[in-house]
Amino acid sequence: MARSIYFFGAGQADGDAQQKDLLGGKGAGLAEMTRLGIPVPPGFTVTTEVCNAYYAAGKVLPAGVEDEIEAAIGRLESLLDARFGSPEAPLLVSVRSGARASMPGMMDTLLNLGINDEIVAGLARRTGSERFALDAYRRFILTYSDIVLGVPRDRFEEALGRARRDAAARLGVDATRLNSAELERKVPDSLLDPESLAALIQRQKEIVVGATGNAFPDDPRAQLGGAIRAVFDSWNNHRAQVYRKMHDIPEAWGTACNVQAMVFGNLGDDSGTGVAFTRDPSTGERRFYGEWLPNAQGEDVVAGVRTPHPLSRSGPGGGAASDDADDASSLEARMPEAHAQLVAVQARLEQHFRDMQDLEFTIQRGELFLLQCRTGKRTGRAAVRIAVEMAREGLISQREAILRVDPGSIDQLLHPSIDEGAPKRLLARGLPASPGAATGQVVFSADEAERRAGQGKAVILVRSETSPEDIHGMKAARGVLTARGGMTSHAAVVARGMGKSCVAGCSAISVSQGQMAVTIYDDHGHATGSIKVKAGDLITLDGGTGRVYLGAVPTVPAALSGEFEELIGWADAVRRLRVRSNADTPHDARTARNFGAEGIGLCRTEHMFFDEERIDAMREMILADGEAGRRRALAKLLPFQRGDFLGVFREMAGLPVTIRLLDPPLHEFLPQDEAQLEQLSKAMGISAKELRRKSQELAEYNPMLGHRGCRLAITSPEIYEMQARAILEAACEVAAAGIEVEPEIMIPLSMTRRELAITRALVEGVAEQVFAEKGRRVDVRFGTMIELPRAAIMAGELAEEAEFFSFGTNDLTQTTLGISRDDAGRFLGAYVEAGIFAKDPFQSLDVPGVGALVELARDRGRAARPGLKLGVCGEHGGDPSSIAFFERAGLDYVSCSPFRVPVARLAAAQAALTAESARGPRATD
Ligand code: ADP
Ligand code: MG
Ligand code: MG
Repeated sequence: MARSIYFFGAGQADGDAQQKDLLGGKGAGLAEMTRLGIPVPPGFTVTTEVCNAYYAAGKVLPAGVEDEIEAAIGRLESLLDARFGSPEAPLLVSVRSGARASMPGMMDTLLNLGINDEIVAGLARRTGSERFALDAYRRFILTYSDIVLGVPRDRFEEALGRARRDAAARLGVDATRLNSAELERKVPDSLLDPESLAALIQRQKEIVVGATGNAFPDDPRAQLGGAIRAVFDSWNNHRAQVYRKMHDIPEAWGTACNVQAMVFGNLGDDSGTGVAFTRDPSTGERRFYGEWLPNAQGEDVVAGVRTPHPLSRSGPGGGAASDDADDASSLEARMPEAHAQLVAVQARLEQHFRDMQDLEFTIQRGELFLLQCRTGKRTGRAAVRIAVEMAREGLISQREAILRVDPGSIDQLLHPSIDEGAPKRLLARGLPASPGAATGQVVFSADEAERRAGQGKAVILVRSETSPEDIHGMKAARGVLTARGGMTSHAAVVARGMGKSCVAGCSAISVSQGQMAVTIYDDHGHATGSIKVKAGDLITLDGGTGRVYLGAVPTVPAALSGEFEELIGWADAVRRLRVRSNADTPHDARTARNFGAEGIGLCRTEHMFFDEERIDAMREMILADGEAGRRRALAKLLPFQRGDFLGVFREMAGLPVTIRLLDPPLHEFLPQDEAQLEQLSKAMGISAKELRRKSQELAEYNPMLGHRGCRLAITSPEIYEMQARAILEAACEVAAAGIEVEPEIMIPLSMTRRELAITRALVEGVAEQVFAEKGRRVDVRFGTMIELPRAAIMAGELAEEAEFFSFGTNDLTQTTLGISRDDAGRFLGAYVEAGIFAKDPFQSLDVPGVGALVELARDRGRAARPGLKLGVCGEHGGDPSSIAFFERAGLDYVSCSPFRVPVARLAAAQAALTAESARGPRATD
């Protein structure tokens, strides 16, 4: 192993922004900012390689690392003219986790380390504030005990309560009848006096002895060693594991550990701490945006316990949420110089990194320090706006703009929002923390959210504030509502990352004991009453405005922004893959077309048979005795089918429409219960008993591999005959009206040339009849799905009959893996967990297996028929990583559900750009 430690300080750094893999995002950012001359407290980064070696050796630090740490501490001491462990000139440090990818709040960080009874006295002398020094110490004992010694925070609750009561007595506040929340409000941390704090520290130490049998460690070097180990350990805590899984972060990356000299934002009213974004992370608007708290340290802003103030005054015209009180408490008003310096630093960082940055800063007695800088998380809406505006500003190229937006994140733009016109009952207003409308049952704990969501319920997680322990509940919920915390609170940041609706800091609600009390205010801000909301009650959140409604409120479809249209236009200009949609009805076809679909890749005809008026005719057809009976029933279905196709062809004028002939096993259409059976028996004039017998005859052991797909047409050709007639009559009719029509008839589940030859002859026979009857011809293409391994292997022969292939990757995955999608739920999770599959192969294509069959079929098919058209119509057609494979494989198009079409357009453009740069620059560039 190379060096274990990278130092940064006084304008120089061993590492830089390129070394995220080794230093983690935080370490690389600190090094880069230091190099840029931005004020950063000095420190050093223990690398991710050390973390991995630590795990490989069974949680033991590799030899030599401790010496390197000691040497780095020495460098810090001489830079700062202070000594680690010295009461005279104490050096305190933070010990901070930081992985390659940002995992906000998932791992551990310790502040104020390197302190004991003697040092605390020295710190008091140096800073002139005994209260501050004692407060730093008692906070340190709390977090160190929790994170390193395994004594949970809540064990100290009571001791803290006692300290508050002591302080209350000294302040002359009557605390006898206050509960702990009220007490905290009356006697906040800042009012704990030195005596109460000293007593609290002693009690905390006794609690540690009681819980661990050992004294709280007094030796700063022992504290440091314990903290570094604990940071490495936190890479594998439960919430970090959950987060990694959600964001596809490999376990093998490990975390780095940053040790950094402390600066103090809690040294009085000329100090403070805050977080900032170089652009608005919710809307993408280009304005410096953030929050701060005076006289506060570290996580206070994010923890949401105190509601933070804005950084800047609202501009002329003012932001909607701003008012005079906000302006007066802004950093700009309170510390204009530090504010101006921060504004300059943020502009410099955005220019330097050429992307929106998320910053953490602290001001110590008027002096500004940057503590973190990273590419800021943003909503899908903000991602689009920022990418487009940065390209317009010339900061990035159009190609970079395309690559900047995660296709998965634009999904949220395409989802509905609150119907402003619908009647609704406003409950309360909070901060618009993450956009989108969400309706669900109220739940008050993450576990409950997970449980009810598991039963298929839509839930809204309601909490006073969220913490990283709630992550699984936030994942399960449709939306999140918190009573406290700002726009950069944990709830807000995590919800935006997940693309979930979130209303934060809704101070009108208070949550306790399984219910939520909502204070109702009139227009003048006077409380007029209150409402209780229980677990299970329905509420609706509007994360875009911060409004909370009682009950379910109707929603309206998404309206796409101008920036979005522009970005997708750039994407269309560079992509090669065409994007079609799966659509069964004229309505879906119109939605798909509005989202930019370039045709229909899969129109399933079976859905057309489930309508109430049609299902009887369908059942009659299935249960009929012999061909004549079947034809009678089919004649009733023909006009319905023709009508459906007419509608779809009209919507898709000028674009190809691939229609798949009947695919599912017939028994899916049979009567489900006795009542349906009785009704059918009357309609058909056949006894119920006879019908029951026939239904039983049709039952199959394994219907997915049974009598379905083109196998139906081999035994009962009249079904496909009727469908072909309906398609072609509709096509002729539409063509007669002057509308361009491009029907493509697709045969499901074939695996032999002969199946295709038979069905093709059948379709062509019908076509000639219809053309003769209508006195006109239309172009119609004949093709097949590839959804069985044999079909892929025999693709050369199939291509002699088929003019196009469409890979039905759902079935192809089932049949290649021999895993039934409907039964996979029981074990597929375990497969992904055990690392057998990296991802669920039904969501993201199994490239080495199923992908190899796709390539085989492509090669054999195109060898037999040059120019053979190839598409994909499974679930994978809308999955960005699968789309990247289809681009590499040189397919012609993907087809996905209407709402995924824009996602697929963007993903296809990214795939084209990535494939191009992998091939090297073009000669013409
Ligand atoms: P996270 O990854 O959860 O954001 P950090 O390591 O950034 O954790 O630490 C959380 C907070 O602690 C920071 O935002 C910062 O305010 C505070 N902090 C960390 N190191 C220092 C330091 N050296 N001096 C002052 N505050 C610090
Ligand atoms: Mg941080
Ligand atoms: Mg199929």
